[in-house]
Amino acid sequence: MTAITKKGTVCWRCHAPHSGGHFCAACGKIQPLARGTDYFAFFGLPQKLWLDCAELEKLFHQLSWKLHPDNFVRAGEYERELSLERSSQLNDAYRALRDPVARVEYLLAHAGMRKEGAAKQQAPPELLEEVFELNESLDELRTARASSTDDSHLASLKQHLEAEERKLETKLREVDEELKRIATEWDAAFDAGADQSQRKALMSRMNDVLNRRSYIRNLVANVQKELAEA
Ligand SMILES: [Zn+2]
Repeated sequence: MTAITKKGTVCWRCHAPHSGGHFCAACGKIQPLARGTDYFAFFGLPQKLWLDCAELEKLFHQLSWKLHPDNFVRAGEYERELSLERSSQLNDAYRALRDPVARVEYLLAHAGMRKEGAAKQQAPPELLEEVFELNESLDELRTARASSTDDSHLASLKQHLEAEERKLETKLREVDEELKRIATEWDAAFDAGADQSQRKALMSRMNDVLNRRSYIRNLVANVQKELAEA
């Protein structure tokens, strides 16, 4: 028996109308996961990006207690299966929502709006020049390391790259601030009942910021790796 059913169905046990919660309101039996249920709805939350993390943690603990397979040891096989499925989805949902960036990633992915495309390889326009110079410095560092005749040259190269790394970390914080600003706009738009096209426009902006963020993070990781080996 498949444990996935459509939303707005009836309870598998007592056939009372059921709207997608964890348990039937009439008979209290655990219910199958509704197809397309998003992680926000799983917690009974609106699709907004600002979340009270303490409140989320509380909901997580309450649900993990209610859905825990230990509560279903004497239930039928189907209910045990449902409890395992819901518990595992609970963990995935909590992991995705507790971190603000993962939350945005999830919102976009669920809406089919997370598009990485060529962004992983392509430098954001405002970083082009810097990336070019950074790559030159990294090349120089590798060459200096291989020849290892001029220690002071190597040391000054390392110093330069450490400074570059700090600049990138600053950029990363700016990008995070930008993401936070758009997230606030998203929540305001949500409250105002924004239409599909407004929501898509905001998601597309968040997608761009996420791509820029992952590009810069890769750069930082790259510089750190080369510095560690130098
Ligand atoms: Zn029922």
